[in-house]
Amino acid sequence: MKNSTEVVIIGGGIVGLCLAHQLIKRNISKNIIILEKEKSIGCHSSGRNSGVIHAGLYYKPNSLKADVCVSGGKRLKSWIKDNNLSINKCGKIIIPTKRELDNQLDLLLKRGIANGAKVELINDVQLKNMIPEAKCTTNRALWSPETAVIKPLEIMHSLENNLLDSGVQILKDTKNWELETELSQIRLKSNKIIKYSHLINCAGVQAEEIAKKFNIGSDYILIPFKGHYWRLKKECKIKISTNLYPVPDLNVPFLGVHFTPTADNIPIVNIGPTASFCLGRENYFNYKGIEPIRSSTNLRILIDQYLQNKDNFRGYVHKQAFLASPRLFLKAAQDLIPCIKMKDIERSQKVGIRSQLYNKKANSLEDDFLCLEGKNSTHLLNAISPAFTSSFSLADLIIDRSNFF
Ligand SMILES: Cc1cc2nc3c(=O)[nH]c(=O)nc-3n(C[C@H](O)[C@H](O)[C@H](O)COP(=O)(O)OP(=O)(O)OC[C@H]3O[C@@H](n4cnc5c(N)ncnc54)[C@H](O)[C@@H]3O)c2cc1C
Repeated sequence: MKNSTEVVIIGGGIVGLCLAHQLIKRNISKNIIILEKEKSIGCHSSGRNSGVIHAGLYYKPNSLKADVCVSGGKRLKSWIKDNNLSINKCGKIIIPTKRELDNQLDLLLKRGIANGAKVELINDVQLKNMIPEAKCTTNRALWSPETAVIKPLEIMHSLENNLLDSGVQILKDTKNWELETELSQIRLKSNKIIKYSHLINCAGVQAEEIAKKFNIGSDYILIPFKGHYWRLKKECKIKISTNLYPVPDLNVPFLGVHFTPTADNIPIVNIGPTASFCLGRENYFNYKGIEPIRSSTNLRILIDQYLQNKDNFRGYVHKQAFLASPRLFLKAAQDLIPCIKMKDIERSQKVGIRSQLYNKKANSLEDDFLCLEGKNSTHLLNAISPAFTSSFSLADLIIDRSNFF
């Protein structure tokens, strides 16, 4: 192992891997070490998401998300094609689940067009042709032909192999290291030292904690929101061959429970994810991962926000918490496919936790990606959806914003 490197990347998620790829491709650096605390890649968000390549409809024009989603999605599709990986080019329909949400279709259409996405309004006949069982509240829906579904882990493994071939060192199972920021070095548990010229922090749910060691990001605190999934049973008669999403509540950075066919040969249809507050940033299944003090601080913030009823947050958290009840989850699914019954669905093992930050100064959930500079370092915070879709372009954005490169 080298004891000095030009670039050290913290986190072997999709963003960390794409960063290393772009640094090499753009001839910026070949001297790269990735530190990954898990034994394999994809143990967190990048391996636990819906696998949707988003088309760029939701994001406010001029936001970082809007800047990187459309181009990132195209580049991810090129990577998939060049490497012969799986993709289900099934598109996406967005429907208003209530009459009063109908005008949001116009807003999403406008945003999509401004962001450079292909998107069109369709009528009830076109909707029923695609999904006969879909709810048709206002005889209108949005159709996004460029939305697709991929296999996230397959993509990550192909990137990992490509990086190893290019000489990038990926140090897995590397945890409990210490940062010595003044000396621009990392001390591993074995006492070995890695000196770096520049550090890029893309540690997902842990990124804001690492940033704080560089005295940046103090306005933000992580509020982990867990996403559970259900799926259609194999024997279910309802066949869904495209993504089906509700018009989302644009006051919160979540898209609502949706139906997503996978990119498998015989597609499974996932339903979800929910977005419920969880105790512990990596607490997927039980309470082992709880970080008591930090969690209780975050819980207090959540309660404060809840009581202040900011940005419809109260109603949203309330509704989401109830989705833990199978009956109410079914109701959320019935908002899209009214004829669906409990006998048609089953719980999936799939569960993910979002790297969602709360902005203490603005007193609201942070909506956009944050790319912050520290001493000899760049930090990507709030790497929520659509960071997987955007990863190649997001990597370029991080490189271009960094004073070092
Ligand atoms: C339920 C859910 C559904 C989603 N659906 C979609 C979707 O359909 N489409 C889309 O585009 N996006 C989606 N997203 C978002 C997307 O998955 C993430 O934005 C993206 O994967 C973030 O990638 P990342 O590399 O920043 O983080 P991660 O994948 O979390 O990677 C961070 C890595 O850093 C490592 N790490 C952390 N701390 C340390 C440390 N101290 N030392 C060493 N390594 C460390 C972790 O082990 C991890 O491997 C979804 C997310 C969730 C949770």
